Amino acid sequence: MSYFDSFELSSEVMKAIKEMGFEEPSPIQEKAIPLIVKGGDVIGQAQTGTGKTAAFGIPVIEKIKEEDQFVQAIILTPTRELAIQVSGELQKLSKYKRIRTLPIYGGQSIGHQIKALKQGVHVVIGTPGRIMDHLRRKTLKLDRIHTAVLDEADEMLDMGFIEDIEEILKQVKGERQTLLFSATMPPPIKKLSYKYMQNPEIVSINRGEVTAPSIDQVYYKVLERNKLESLCRIIDSEEIDLGILFCRTKKGVAELTEALQARGYIADGLHGDLTQMQRDSVMKKFRDSTIEFLIATDVAARGIDVENVTHVINYDIPQDPESYVHRIGRTGRAGRKGLALTLVTPREMKHLRSIEAEIKMSIPSSNVPTFEEVVEKQQSSWKKQIETLVEEDQDNALFSGMTTELLEKYPPEKIITALMKMTFATETGSDDDGYDFGETGGAKGMVRFFINVGKNVNMSPKILIEEIADLVGIPGKAIGRIDIFDKFTFVEVPEEVAPFVYEALRHSRINGARVNLEPAKPRPKRERKPFTK
Ligand code: ADP
Ligand code: MG
Repeated sequence: MSYFDSFELSSEVMKAIKEMGFEEPSPIQEKAIPLIVKGGDVIGQAQTGTGKTAAFGIPVIEKIKEEDQFVQAIILTPTRELAIQVSGELQKLSKYKRIRTLPIYGGQSIGHQIKALKQGVHVVIGTPGRIMDHLRRKTLKLDRIHTAVLDEADEMLDMGFIEDIEEILKQVKGERQTLLFSATMPPPIKKLSYKYMQNPEIVSINRGEVTAPSIDQVYYKVLERNKLESLCRIIDSEEIDLGILFCRTKKGVAELTEALQARGYIADGLHGDLTQMQRDSVMKKFRDSTIEFLIATDVAARGIDVENVTHVINYDIPQDPESYVHRIGRTGRAGRKGLALTLVTPREMKHLRSIEAEIKMSIPSSNVPTFEEVVEKQQSSWKKQIETLVEEDQDNALFSGMTTELLEKYPPEKIITALMKMTFATETGSDDDGYDFGETGGAKGMVRFFINVGKNVNMSPKILIEEIADLVGIPGKAIGRIDIFDKFTFVEVPEEVAPFVYEALRHSRINGARVNLEPAKPRPKRERKPFTK
């Protein structure tokens, strides 16, 4: 095990690190800090949540001279949130040094920033746009900078800041140590580093090390048509303190936010169309835990760093493995336990498999809890709610007439049950997934499907089993009887997964042939001898 002692840092910085509660350096810190302290250019690549801020923050704070009253280091970040957050982390690291850090970002009065800059600042942390603004006004000079840091470089690229970054780097003349930190290294970022860095040392923490082991991951098989229902069941059966829900689009965020609010969840949404003030207000509510669920797109969630997120829920599956890792990195921070849940529809199963291949791990699947399971799980909380109300002992004249009337007519248990159903059952909804395959001639507990291809496309039991097992995420042995004929095939699958199989296979291909799948008709009395599994 390595400790911070091995870096030969000043006692001031060591003391601050200790107070921050860091016990040992994270992998990226362990590799990057000694190189940065030596003075060369360094590129650090590691996923979100791996401690990149302190990886450059510790050596930068170490290097700043308190007595030099001018800007010595500049740190570029993609968002205002991140600028504030990095500034905060640097302040903590410099608790025992007299160093002034200043976050600079759009949306805040430029006059205020100019005043603050005039008072003498050692480290400026800002978004490229606003920094450019100050450079044009000559209210910020970069001529005596010895360290330039590009933090979350890939996100700055995504946000269209690359030209501003180049312009800023051009203005930092003379001896300069340049550091670049990023979760991923897309080609434009590599190009930028060749151009503006001198023989950079590259420190990369590969995926194997970063998919933080403290983050448990699970995926749920859901049907598109009752995805919302499934989500509610899942969140009702989990103990969620603070959860981030990801949607693919802004529209998705708005719709899901509304739907969850309508169902009584304390939720709010974050998307690109919000004004900075609205965004801040939502983030404050989330930080203060006045809301339980934050619903966001990938872009809107950039720069969010809230420590005690217990659950990340991918309501829409992320578009690529990178974004999967980014998203789930929002939980399980700073050594806490976190859980990442992903909802996967039949048509998205292939996509899930490709994510698994990239992150080199297979994500275990779990079934959406049934209505009964949710009731079971919620009982104690429901009971508590009722007890609180009873103990409050409200004498509500409004209902007393009705109460007496009902009590004269029915036993109290019956009335209570009915009331509970009325109150709680609507929250979890019915168990109907909208599919009734009717009598298909399958074995007990199985649904039998007709597939419109057979030996004519070289169908074999092995191929079919693999296809279904992979697309549906069930073990091959769960699949029942298979009968393959020349031009068609019958297959039996367990009832619980039948809707999922139906939706997954209807749009797939087997051996290159388009597949159509229908619930089978009950078996005729006599059958030709099939090719049986
Ligand atoms: P990144 O920039 O890689 O996404 P951050 O720098 O934001 O990650 O760090 C994520 C969290 O981990 C922060 O809350 C930070 O304070 C904490 N952290 C960083 N380094 C350590 C460490 N060595 N030990 C414990 N917690 C750490
Ligand atoms: Mg960071």
